Amino acid sequence: MQVHVLTIFPEMFPGPLGAGIVERAQKAGLLDLNVHNIRDYAHDRHRTTDDTAYGGGPGMVMRPEPLFEAVESLDRPAGSPVVLLTPQGKLFTQREAERLSKEQTVTFICGRYEGVDERVRQHLATEELSIGDYVLTGGEIATMVIVEAVARLLPGALGHGDEALLDDTHTSRLVQYPQYTRPSDFQGAQVPDVLLTGDHAAIAKWRRRQSLQRTLERRPDLLKDAELSPEDRKVLQELGWTD
Ligand code: SAM
Repeated sequence: MQVHVLTIFPEMFPGPLGAGIVERAQKAGLLDLNVHNIRDYAHDRHRTTDDTAYGGGPGMVMRPEPLFEAVESLDRPAGSPVVLLTPQGKLFTQREAERLSKEQTVTFICGRYEGVDERVRQHLATEELSIGDYVLTGGEIATMVIVEAVARLLPGALGHGDEALLDDTHTSRLVQYPQYTRPSDFQGAQVPDVLLTGDHAAIAKWRRRQSLQRTLERRPDLLKDAELSPEDRKVLQELGWTD
């Protein structure tokens, strides 16, 4: 997967994208991260990328010309997604990560200041994404969050096998069951007996029940989109779920 990032702060990259699984994905040739300085596409003496807002008001707005020129200069398939990061955008979720992970090339436009000129949204971006209902100072960290979530979904990115993804919170559309490792007794807190039995069917059943219970307790909103078997529904009803 090829990723292009347009930013006025290229020095923020790779940052966290230069470590762990995402770094490995780049070394393995699964992810090709290309960071472009928007200032390289500003042609005045001061390489200006922003200006005051028409109509007045505080703060600066990112000018459209450098952004259009930057995107147009990229070697990217026509029609590939151009994502504008904005707190006004569609909420980025695991489903959006799954969708983007199937793309060959994705371009991200990182806003700054009061945001970007409206014509970028109208005529350059193909979609707008937000990572949550709060306002960051720029789109760079939001881009990193999205690239991180997408990169671990690329086939082969997780060293221990892609099946590990299936049980993840949100991938499964449920909250994940509790995880334990050694020691089996930590200061008197015991690992549940079933996990020590080696009985894979019993363990799977316990984990599913835990997952359902945790989802009901913590994120009942997820249950309406989760794939639930008749057995799952029975368990949830025992736990007090009213569909
Ligand atoms: N004035 C803008 C508004 O009210 O919609 C907010 C501008 S914000 C200070 C500057 C930039 O940070 C935005 O253009 C966007 O690229 C990025 N940004 C801020 N919050 C974000 C969020 N929750 N998700 C994605 N990008 C965000």
